[in-house]
Amino acid sequence: MKTVPHTARKIAILGATGSIGASTLDVVARHPERFTVTALAANRQWQRLLELVVRFRPAYAALLDADAAHELAAAVRREGLATRVLSGSEGLCEAASSPETDTVIAAIVGGAGLAPTLAAARAGKRILLANKETLVLAGGIFMAAVREGGATLLPIDSEHNAIFQCLPAGYAGAPENGGVRRILLTASGGPFRETPFGELARVTPEQACAHPRWRMGRKISVDSATMMNKGLEVIEAHWLFGAARDQIEVVIHPESIVHSLVEYVDGSVLAQLGNPDMRTPIAQALAWPERIAAGVAPLDLAQIGALHFAVPEAARFPCLGLACAALVTGGSAPATLSAANEEAVAAFLGHGIGFLDIADVCAEALARLPARPVASLADALEADRAGRALARELLGRQALTA
Ligand code: NAD
Ligand code: MG
Repeated sequence: MKTVPHTARKIAILGATGSIGASTLDVVARHPERFTVTALAANRQWQRLLELVVRFRPAYAALLDADAAHELAAAVRREGLATRVLSGSEGLCEAASSPETDTVIAAIVGGAGLAPTLAAARAGKRILLANKETLVLAGGIFMAAVREGGATLLPIDSEHNAIFQCLPAGYAGAPENGGVRRILLTASGGPFRETPFGELARVTPEQACAHPRWRMGRKISVDSATMMNKGLEVIEAHWLFGAARDQIEVVIHPESIVHSLVEYVDGSVLAQLGNPDMRTPIAQALAWPERIAAGVAPLDLAQIGALHFAVPEAARFPCLGLACAALVTGGSAPATLSAANEEAVAAFLGHGIGFLDIADVCAEALARLPARPVASLADALEADRAGRALARELLGRQALTA
């Protein structure tokens, strides 16, 4: 077979020390002829970032935290490396938009990912998007920046990557243009899908983070347990694929083998299957439109035996309903929800509130903060700030009664 020529991609990884960062570096390291790492960015874990800098020798390393960046810069000098160390939000944006880079992996967790991912879009990069919060906080602004900056957007959230693979080539605009009737997002249901209702108030962060199928960062693990993650993914699918709320359906699929499906008007339903390993969607997007090995074990359907599907229980997963309602409300409502959720999840992870309080805080934030138009980055950041401030106030009260 004739090998397809390819040019080496120059890759920046935002969130390099996290779960998606590690999976990306694993795939990249399997193909040194295809990929060079140009920038690595993270929050404050400078020793971990130093290990990666020593191994991958990027042009830039960026940390949000200025003190940690200072430590990293000193260590980089001691190692005699040429890597330039950047810090703060501006440093992350510079790392995401530098001319040395053509491909940016957006894998910072939470709203903190918005500014650097937007910088990458404006600079016309090829963006592999894991940070769904960017689309939830500022979907309209981000998608406009992708268009105007001439960027290419490839989803690596497993469901959206599956949908991307199942959509017709050249899909653009909205489902009806491509003969698509519905997008079906699968959800594992998380660790508490069958936990007796009365026990949910007492589940611990450790139990919430012990996801039955996926190994992920702590925030998204809790979001999977509440199904807020799937709600945020409905909003993500809306922006990525131009789908209205009623064109997106969520289906519980505990085995996490079918990563999502696309239903066409003729009754055909296309699905993407694979073992639950983020290296598959990451490799698909890194090599697109080619294919490369990802180190993922082949799928053994006979060993799996059966696949199950069910409708999510609305009462068990109120966060899913809140997110879908926020999408319909529009404006700043999704940003309010995402910001309040981040604060509530952090409080739950710190043992400050109970599991069920997460949904209560989110619902109250949505009810109390009227939705406003989001026409600029400043509007999105203000919605994020207001959502967090109100959530902190509510959490203070919750903690007093806990
Ligand atoms: P993680 O907690 O494992 O890693 C987060 C990364 O972001 C770390 O490198 C951390 O240093 C960095 N970070 C955190 N706060 C930051 C800040 N304020 N400024 C700069 N950097 C910061 O998270 P993860 O599981 O890798 O998830 C990352 C993103 O990918 C999330 O948006 C998540 O929803 C999405 N995602 C993750 C998975 C998964 O399997 N882990 C799957 C789909 C989507
Ligand atoms: Mg997902």
